[in-house]
Amino acid sequence: MSDAEKAQFDRAMMRLAIDQARNAWAVGEVPVGAVVVREGAVLATGYNQPIGSHDPTAHAEICAMRAASELLANYRLVDCDLYVTLEPCAMCAGAIMHARVRRVVYGARDPKTGAAGSVVDLFADPRLNHHTEVTAGVLADECGALLSSFFAERRGGRGGSEACPEATPPPDGSGIEVRFEDQER
Ligand SMILES: [Zn+2]
Repeated sequence: MSDAEKAQFDRAMMRLAIDQARNAWAVGEVPVGAVVVREGAVLATGYNQPIGSHDPTAHAEICAMRAASELLANYRLVDCDLYVTLEPCAMCAGAIMHARVRRVVYGARDPKTGAAGSVVDLFADPRLNHHTEVTAGVLADECGALLSSFFAERRGGRGGSEACPEATPPPDGSGIEVRFEDQER
């Protein structure tokens, strides 16, 4: 696969992760979605759902990895890549490393809890990990806009029950780092 084909594939997989993020929004959770990909095919999906599942660990990445591990009957996600709309937090980065995920591809940066370069970079620490490659900023604007819209709607006091709008690029054309206040997944 050429670099251009690889980038195109990454965007296609990120669009599926964005669909998962919309599922989270539809049930009133912070819209973050993830897919696990192996040998060019989607193996499992997940979306953020800590509130509804009464589970502080139920981030999109954990949900997708848990489903993938069950399918493979293996706690190591051998040759698997994880696509997630938001930069992983420290908990998810740890789980990703334990699972030996081959590559993590994320969309928007998370300036508050990002553990892949924004607050800390656990993947860059050779004492912790020798396995996981990181690709940042794939469809970052769409991924970030979804979060910004969610929090804007919530601040507007209209609750999270409305239909999720199509993600649109931020009006100010800002870069991949999207600020979203009140984040609390
Ligand atoms: Zn997380």
